Amino acid sequence: MTGLVEKLYITSDLTDNELRELINTNDIAVSELLRKRADEARQQSYQKKVFLRGLIEVSSYCRNNCLYCGIRRGNPEAERYRLSREDILKCCENGYELGFRTFVMQGGEDAFFTDDFLCPLITEIKEKYPDCAITLSLGERSYESYKRLKEAGTDRYLLRHEAAAQELYSKLHPKDMILENRKKCLFQLKELGYQVGAGFMVGAPFQTVEHIIADLRFLQELKPQMIGIGPFIPHHNTPFSEEKGGTLELTLKLLGILRLMFPKVLLPATTALGTVASNGRELGLQTGCNVVMPNLSPVMVRKKYDLYDNKICTGEEAAECRNCLQKRISAAGYEVVSERGDCI
Ligand code: SF4
Repeated sequence: MTGLVEKLYITSDLTDNELRELINTNDIAVSELLRKRADEARQQSYQKKVFLRGLIEVSSYCRNNCLYCGIRRGNPEAERYRLSREDILKCCENGYELGFRTFVMQGGEDAFFTDDFLCPLITEIKEKYPDCAITLSLGERSYESYKRLKEAGTDRYLLRHEAAAQELYSKLHPKDMILENRKKCLFQLKELGYQVGAGFMVGAPFQTVEHIIADLRFLQELKPQMIGIGPFIPHHNTPFSEEKGGTLELTLKLLGILRLMFPKVLLPATTALGTVASNGRELGLQTGCNVVMPNLSPVMVRKKYDLYDNKICTGEEAAECRNCLQKRISAAGYEVVSERGDCI
């Protein structure tokens, strides 16, 4: 079985049968070799660098009703907020001083964030901080909107595809959410010249190994610059409140596989990974990850961006988050860099 890891390391691909075997095995020697090869692959492209993305959670309003999400429209107990233009600029100012060179504005699909609101704001941030990249993660929008946002100065867009297999996608989302539309958005973003991030949850309810293979194949087709995966963690006020969460082990294995399939991709060690295990992000970094996304949102709204239960880092100021992660990254043997961190 270790031969499959070597083959993946050398060729960056496996057959479906081989992927199935690799994902299904509990052989510790295989996991250990995968971790080692994933670390080698990331070091060949990015050495020991870890890029920081300053996450600004701009809104907890969302028109959608994804069954796994704590801020879904149908959760009457979700606390709703949205940041003002001034709040967002303040987060950027704070982040820039702390060494962040990428700002990620993320939120639910909130109609308040029109192009007319966002475009001047994006242009202003780019003028103030020309050495920074701006990433948006605001869900599905029209081609025209993506075009305007790009022209205003946005560099990157994150839109997890969540599940590439129709069968699984329709079990995780209500009928009005269409997988084909989500995929179309991702290809449009690429066409418009964005650096694109896609990704999926690990261990989502009803997810099988076949669904995961479909996700990997979709990513091969899309060729995104960034891939975000993290364990599914249930939220107490969703239809999936009683479901089991995704495991650390499977998430790490898939991170290793992704690093070998996409040697140059930007691969975050996610907050969800740090939530399922206290050293989850460090283990992620040691298994091929090269990005972390500390929170720059004002502390007073952090707990309200409540996607899943027990989310970590909701009480600290941005500077504390930054310092804590710096220590963790150094202790894991890697080096935080104050760069935009583009995909090479
Ligand atoms: S996952 Fe995103 S689109 Fe779905 S309900 Fe949550 S915030 Fe909205």
